[in-house]
Amino acid sequence: MAERFYVNCELRPGPVLVQGAEAHHLAVVCRLRPGDAVCLFNGDGHEYPARIEKISRREVTLEVFAVESPARELPFRLDVAAPLPRGDRAQFLVEKLTELGVTSFTPLRTTRSVVHPRETRRDKLQRYVIEASKQCGRNVLMEVRPLSDWPAFCVAAGLPQRRLLAHPGGEKRAGDSFAQRSLAPFLPTVAAVGPEGGFTDEEIALAKAAGWRLLDLGPRILRVETAAIALAVLCG
Ligand code: SAM
Repeated sequence: MAERFYVNCELRPGPVLVQGAEAHHLAVVCRLRPGDAVCLFNGDGHEYPARIEKISRREVTLEVFAVESPARELPFRLDVAAPLPRGDRAQFLVEKLTELGVTSFTPLRTTRSVVHPRETRRDKLQRYVIEASKQCGRNVLMEVRPLSDWPAFCVAAGLPQRRLLAHPGGEKRAGDSFAQRSLAPFLPTVAAVGPEGGFTDEEIALAKAAGWRLLDLGPRILRVETAAIALAVLCG
């Protein structure tokens, strides 16, 4: 597969001019040359095989010669919400959710959460989505939503019917954990995970009243990112 590049512009067959940081990346970091084949994507669901025509440090002219639409998305919406873990673990979480086909990620503010990203951090998280999409072949970008307070998030209008909340002591089968059985596939789902200190009893009560199903993911306590990834795998 030709190397994939994200560009923030409309794409269609014909010439395309890439400037700024993206051109620098193609020309200087990747050292591409005229005649090299690449694959462009912009998050619109398609990918665009292209050839480099002219290249300088500041501008790259490419010729897009096809539009392809490989099926790489989940056939249903999967929205995941969790408090952002600290440091590199946040990057890891965002990358893995992107690879797993998650539709959106919402950072949560809960009573015991400690990391509350501002807009600049959200931009950075969205960059991780792009990097992971380059690597895994996704042509639709996982949306990173603004920070949301759990009491508002869990009762928000428009949440899908299937609302899953990872909670130690939640639903499990006799003698084993819920995680050992998969969920019915292809249902639009919102899945939430709590902070390192766990949800408070009040937050759990709110979720239950709003129709969330509490799931136990096994006999070990998982970190936030592990629980979110495990939930996404179970749903996907
Ligand atoms: N002491 C906290 C508690 O009892 O909830 C542990 C929090 S855990 C580090 C962070 C979050 O991951 C939890 O709030 C929950 O959403 C999820 N989680 C971790 N392990 C889990 C498990 N075995 N079953 C269900 N959810 C789990």
